[in-house]
Amino acid sequence: MKALSNLAQSVRASTTLAIDTQFNKMRSEGIDVIGFSVGQPDFPTPEHIKQAGIRAIQENLTKYTPTPGTPAVRKAVADRLDADWGLDYTPEEIVVSGGGKPILYVALKTLIDPGDEVILPAPYWVSYYELIKMVGGVPVVVTTTEENGFNLTPEQLQAAITPKTKALMLNSPSNPTGMIYSREHLEDIAKVCLDNDLYVIADEMYSKLVFDNKEFVSFPTLSKEIKARTILVGGASKTYAMTGWRIGFAAASKEIVQVMSNYLSHSLSGTCSIAQAAATEAFSGSQDEIEVMRQAFETRRNYLYERMSAIPGVHPVRPEATFYMLMNLDQLIGKTLYGDVIHDADDFARVFLREGLVAVVPCTGFGAPNYVRWSFAVSMENIKEGMDRLEKFLKNA
Ligand code: GLU
Repeated sequence: MKALSNLAQSVRASTTLAIDTQFNKMRSEGIDVIGFSVGQPDFPTPEHIKQAGIRAIQENLTKYTPTPGTPAVRKAVADRLDADWGLDYTPEEIVVSGGGKPILYVALKTLIDPGDEVILPAPYWVSYYELIKMVGGVPVVVTTTEENGFNLTPEQLQAAITPKTKALMLNSPSNPTGMIYSREHLEDIAKVCLDNDLYVIADEMYSKLVFDNKEFVSFPTLSKEIKARTILVGGASKTYAMTGWRIGFAAASKEIVQVMSNYLSHSLSGTCSIAQAAATEAFSGSQDEIEVMRQAFETRRNYLYERMSAIPGVHPVRPEATFYMLMNLDQLIGKTLYGDVIHDADDFARVFLREGLVAVVPCTGFGAPNYVRWSFAVSMENIKEGMDRLEKFLKNA
């Protein structure tokens, strides 16, 4: 038999989903393991959103919808972006699909020809790297530092640009670091993008989960010129506890949205009609429950950070947003824990799961091999237990 596609075979499975599968398997075997791996709110979808989904079924909204989304959901997204950040998109400049990943995939497909380079600041969300490869692009990883708040500097960006550079992947607030770019910093980044004719994919999936009253700046608000070359990516999953409904969106120029829509019309086609109806309510209905969830995440962030800071051998990186916290393993690298040498985060996560019965995400696949990621989208009770287990695990090693 002929070989499978080289490109497809070069794609690695998602670490976040793999760890979650392993965690669920252990749980189903009756093992008392606690999970901090996959990032999804532990809250149920708000009632008014669920009701909109139920109504959609009862009203027989169960047929195909237009590929880029129903007129109602496209308008709801456009209005939400206006209400939240003062962004002026028409419904024709919005495209909806089955989650952030298909949107990112099609956005990349729209911009990238084989061999084009995409600048990817590390630490990055594991799927960006593979998605860039999946469209034949070349990820150009630029490593940022903890001292710099994991922010890509304009100088680093400039130095990474070649004649083949087509786009920058920008993720603020960032998964996995939880960091936000300041307005000033974004303006400097935007200038480099304009000077070098780069597109920007601005993934702002976590923009509503910001702590300490910190200002969040949506990238396309910076100027008309920047907006024209930006594909803004967002979704319902994290903001409205709707991960399983699978609703992501992009906002971009009409031309970009048209190309994305053409591409989708032959691949994923339109999105689930029921999920779109629920998302329409999410984006246009009461936003009150977001604040309830955001506050809960902030309380958990504070507790997790305090507890982890007091544990010898590791240190946390205080996130400004999201529900992720990185834990720095520098002091453990090269040491032997429970008979295993810890070369990187993969080794740590494996031994911690086996001996400590806690699942965390190793950031090796996130371009940060000396860090693991804790998702605090889990109950306070589990966070307390997780910290107790970490303390014991390191003490007895
Ligand atoms: N984005 C979430 C995470 O990073 C969900 C899992 C995934 O899609 O990777 O955990």
